Amino acid sequence: MENTASLHRGMPTKFYLFFLCPLLRGAVLVILLVLQCGFLATASGEPAKEQAGKLPTLTTAHQAHSLTFSETARAYPVHIRGVVTYFDRDFGYGNAAIFVHDSTGCVFVTIPSTKVGLLTAGTVIDVRGVSGRGTFGPIVTEPQIRVIGRASLPANPPRVSLLHLRTGAEDAQWIEVEGTVHAVSVYRQTVTLQLAMIDGTISAILPREATATYSNLVDAKVRIHANAAPIINGDSQMIGVHLMVPNLSVVTIVEPAPGDPFRQPLTQIDRLLHWDELLASSHRVHLRGNVTLQWPDSSLCIRDANRGICVQTAQDTRFSLGDLVDIAGFAGTENDEPVLTDAVLRSTGKGAPVVAVSVSVEQALQGNHDSDLIQIDGQLIGDDMATSDLNLMLASGNTVFAVVLPKGLMGAEAIPWKIGSRLRVIGICSVQIDARSHLREGIAVIKSFRVLMRSPQDVVVLESPSWWTPGHVLVLLALALAATLSVLSWVMVLRKRVAEQTVLLRKSEERFRHMALHDALTGLATRLLLDDRLTAAWKSAKRHQTGLALLMVDIDNFKEINDTFGHQAGDEVLRVTAGRLMQAVRISDTVARMGGDEFVVLLIDLHDPQMAERIAAKIVKSLAEPVPFAGREIPVSVSVGVGTSDAGELDEEALLKCADDALYQAKANGRNCFYVFTPSLHRSQTVFIA
Ligand code: GH3
Ligand code: MG
Repeated sequence: MENTASLHRGMPTKFYLFFLCPLLRGAVLVILLVLQCGFLATASGEPAKEQAGKLPTLTTAHQAHSLTFSETARAYPVHIRGVVTYFDRDFGYGNAAIFVHDSTGCVFVTIPSTKVGLLTAGTVIDVRGVSGRGTFGPIVTEPQIRVIGRASLPANPPRVSLLHLRTGAEDAQWIEVEGTVHAVSVYRQTVTLQLAMIDGTISAILPREATATYSNLVDAKVRIHANAAPIINGDSQMIGVHLMVPNLSVVTIVEPAPGDPFRQPLTQIDRLLHWDELLASSHRVHLRGNVTLQWPDSSLCIRDANRGICVQTAQDTRFSLGDLVDIAGFAGTENDEPVLTDAVLRSTGKGAPVVAVSVSVEQALQGNHDSDLIQIDGQLIGDDMATSDLNLMLASGNTVFAVVLPKGLMGAEAIPWKIGSRLRVIGICSVQIDARSHLREGIAVIKSFRVLMRSPQDVVVLESPSWWTPGHVLVLLALALAATLSVLSWVMVLRKRVAEQTVLLRKSEERFRHMALHDALTGLATRLLLDDRLTAAWKSAKRHQTGLALLMVDIDNFKEINDTFGHQAGDEVLRVTAGRLMQAVRISDTVARMGGDEFVVLLIDLHDPQMAERIAAKIVKSLAEPVPFAGREIPVSVSVGVGTSDAGELDEEALLKCADDALYQAKANGRNCFYVFTPSLHRSQTVFIA
C-alpha cells in the first residue's frame, strides 16, 4: 500500500485516471500497441534511436521510471521538468548522476560528467532525453539540460522502513528515513553515515562539504531525506540499498548525541543486552577492560572482571595484550554473539595480560566462556591454509573445533605442528549458535565453537604424534612388500642361472667324456673305450661260450707317407683307414684307434673261427686301395695280426698280446698281409713269457 501511495503522490488527475482506471489504461495500451506495430512494419530492423521520433514522449518522472526494460530499450523520448534532489559530478565510470523530481516522482538521469555543468540540489531543470536501461532500473540518458531556476527540495517525502527500501519499490525515489547514526566515515569527496534504523542499518552517502562538521552526528537520532539507490551485484540483482543525500540541510537532528561517551558511566560487559540495559538507552555504551586479542584491521577483544567481548572498530590503534582500554560503541549482535559495533577506543593504561581459563570442550559448548580467553586441549587432525586465515582442526572426544589465526600473524614459517599431535591452545572462544534452536526454545543452543589465536605462541605441543601413523604403516608395508618381491625375483634369477650352469656343466662333462672315449681325428673308440668293451666282451664270451677275435691293424710304412705326402695327407689316410675298417665289420663290433697308425678291431659272438680270418683278409684287401688326396693317389697297405679266443679261454691282456705278436709276424712276413695266431706261436710265446 505504501508503495502505491508513494507512486501516486502528487500526480495530475489525468494520471490518476490513467493508472487507476483499468479500462482507460487498457485502451491507451492498445492504441500504443497498434502504433508500435504499424511502426515496426515499416521500420523493422532500424536502430532504436531512429524509432524514437515516432514514439510518444514521456513527460513525467514517473512515466520515465516505470517502463519495463523491453520498453525502455525502445528509447522513448523523454521531456521532464523538475528539481534536482541529488547531483554528483562523478558518480563513477565518468558519469554524472542527477536525480530529478517532479510532482509524480523521481528519475535518475545520467550524462557524461564532461558534458554537464555544475548543478546543485534545488536547481530546477528542463531535461530532454531518451529512456534507457540503468544498471538496475529505467533511467533517462543522453539528456539536454536547461536550467530554469531554483526551488526548495521536496518537503515531507514518505517515511519508509529499511524493509520496504529493500523491496526495490522506492528505486530512485525521494524518501525519508529515521535512525541513529552509528558511525561517520569521512573520505575525500564523500561522507558516509551508518544509520541504524529500527529494522536495520543503512549507509547514507553525502557529498563532503568543506566547512561542515560531522562528528556531532554520531549517536544522534536523525531524520534524513534522500534518494534511494540500489546496491547491485554483477548480474544487476539488487542485493541491498543505500541512500544518496544531497547535503546536510536534509539531515535533521531529532535528538542530539548524549555527549562524550567516555564521560558516561561504565557498563559491565555482562550487563550488555540485558532487559534493563536495553531499556535504559539505545545510545553508545562505555566499557573498560583488558585487551585479550587484537587482530589488525578486524577485531579487538577485551575482558572486564566478569566477561569478555569482541568489538568492531575502524580505529587503527595498536595495543599490547593486557592493556587497559576504554571503549564506546553500540551494543548489538553479530553471528549470534554479543558485539560492540562502530566502537571508538582509548588507552587507559598498561595492565597484566589476562590469564586464560582452562576449559573442556563440554564447558566451551555451554556458552558461558563466549568471547572469553580460554585454554583448551585437543588433537590436531587437520589444517587448512586455503583462506586468509590458518585453520587448525582439533578433536577432543567426539567434538571437532577450529583454531584460527590470521596468516598475517603467523610469520613466514610453515605450520610447525604435526597432524596427530596433542596441542594446548589459548585464544578467544567464539561460539556459533544452532539457528533452529531459536525457533523452538527461545534459548540459543550452541552448535560449535572456534578458538581465535593471537600468535603461534598460543600453541603448546603436549604430545608429539606416534610414529605409527596410518601413513607410516602403509609406507612400511609397501617397503616390506617391495623387499620381499625383490628377494623372490632375485631367488628366481639365481635358480635360473643355476639351472643354466647345470646344463652347461652337463654338456661340458658329456663333451669331455666323449673326448676321452673317442679319437678326435677319426671319431673311433679310444683305447679306454676298447678296454671297457674288451672286458665286457670277454665276460660275455665266457658266459655264453662264444668266440672272440682281436685284429690289430697297422699301416705299413706310414712314416714314408707322412714324409712323402705331408702330415695332412697322413691324417687323411688315417681317416680313410678308419672309415674302411668300420665298413668291414658289423655294427656290434668295435673299431678303436690305439694311437699313431695302429688300430684294433674287436669281433664278438664268433661262432666260426674262420670268420676272423675272412674279415682280416677283407680288411687287408680293402685297405690296399690307394687313398685319393689333393688330386693324388696315395698308395697304402696294412698289416693285420689276428688273435682269437674260444669261450673266453684267453683274457683281455692275453688276447691283445696274441694279436700284437701276430701283427709282428705279419710285418715280418713282408707287410700287406695278415697273420693268424697259431697255437705253436701262442705256445712258444707262452713258453717265452714263462
Ligand atoms: P711299419 O711298416 O713298420 O709300421 O713302418 P712305419 O713307418 O709305419 O712305422 P711306425 O708304424 O712305427 O710309424 C708310425 C708313424 O706314424 C710315426 C709317426 O710319425 C706317425 N704318426 C703317429 N701319429 C700320427 C698322426 O696322428 N698323424 C700322422 N700324419 N702321422 C702320425
Ligand atoms: Mg706302421
